[in-house]
Amino acid sequence: AKVLVTGANGFVATWLVKTLLEKGYTVRGTIRSESKGAHLREIFKAFGDKLELVIVPDITKDGAFDEAVKGVDVVEHTASPFHAKATDPDDMIKPAVKGTVGVLESIKKYGTSVKRVIVTSSVAAMVNPFNTERVVTLDENSWDEPAIAYVKEHGKNSPAALWYLASKTLAEKAAWNFVEENKASISFDLVVLNPPYVFGPSLLEVHSAADLNESLDELYQTVIKGNPHFIPEVPHGFIDVRDLAEAHVRAAEKAAAGGKRSYHWQDLTDIAVSLNIIEGIPKGNPGAGKPISAGFTLKSENTKEILGMQFRPLEEVIRDVLTDFKKKELDG
Ligand code: NDP
Repeated sequence: AKVLVTGANGFVATWLVKTLLEKGYTVRGTIRSESKGAHLREIFKAFGDKLELVIVPDITKDGAFDEAVKGVDVVEHTASPFHAKATDPDDMIKPAVKGTVGVLESIKKYGTSVKRVIVTSSVAAMVNPFNTERVVTLDENSWDEPAIAYVKEHGKNSPAALWYLASKTLAEKAAWNFVEENKASISFDLVVLNPPYVFGPSLLEVHSAADLNESLDELYQTVIKGNPHFIPEVPHGFIDVRDLAEAHVRAAEKAAAGGKRSYHWQDLTDIAVSLNIIEGIPKGNPGAGKPISAGFTLKSENTKEILGMQFRPLEEVIRDVLTDFKKKELDG
């Protein structure tokens, strides 16, 4: 079978492409420019023409994916901005929403062979960022309406961290709406994955911390550099990038999803210090994270039962991240 992966050069997508190729799928990946493909071609050269890269320069343009969706069986839509460099909420929201709706529209018109679409949403589409309580339970009924409302009301004057949350929530809602409104005329179904923070080794070309994707950069700044995280006092969830890639493949083969497990940034620091893979990590406040991380539950029955997923534990994820940082010489 042939799978289209949008944003194929991303941290998550490179692992997804690798997992698909190793399982024997043919992959068509979209990238924004030719230069983004060189590293991919290099790391996947053993797979020869099983990997095809196509350029979609602007995912917000009407019909951007018209050519890319032709002849594929499954579409995995991962492309979406996740960074802290935006100067306007629309820098995040427009590509997230238009990119998602655009790929669905192209499939409706030209992707007649597509049976399933998997959209990489996020826990960002589920959390209430204004919740100051330390007990959080998220399931498929949880929606981050507060981020949408706040960004809508305050625009550029809202905290930039909310723009990403609003972008993911609006994009996921738009995907479900599209499927509902077009159910009579489409031949594919939709699976949405809502991962929490994604960690793990990176297949990307990383020369310095500036080349890390957002989640690994936050881990690097918080754990290795010892800078307080910008959301310090709440519990977070995590998943290993290799597990998330596997879940994307199983979602193509099977059905629906979620994710469970939690941490507080201090827990990551405690593990990183005890592993002693990278020396001199600032210790912070050892043990202080435990009671906080205990409050976070992400219901993951679907992921476990339908996809049959088992997740790598936190210690293993952090060990592999630190080993990877060390290999890439990101140790100071
Ligand atoms: P990366 O930043 O590594 O990759 C993002 C991908 O999306 C890249 O291919 C990037 O292309 C593309 N992209 C970003 N902005 C645009 C844009 N404006 N137009 C077209 N393409 C764009 O991110 P991740 O791999 O970490 O994230 C992948 C997906 O997973 C995203 O949808 C993200 O929201 C979601 N996710 C990630 C989590 C995490 O912790 N990492 C947690 C939960 C969800 P280019 O390189 O050209 O910019």
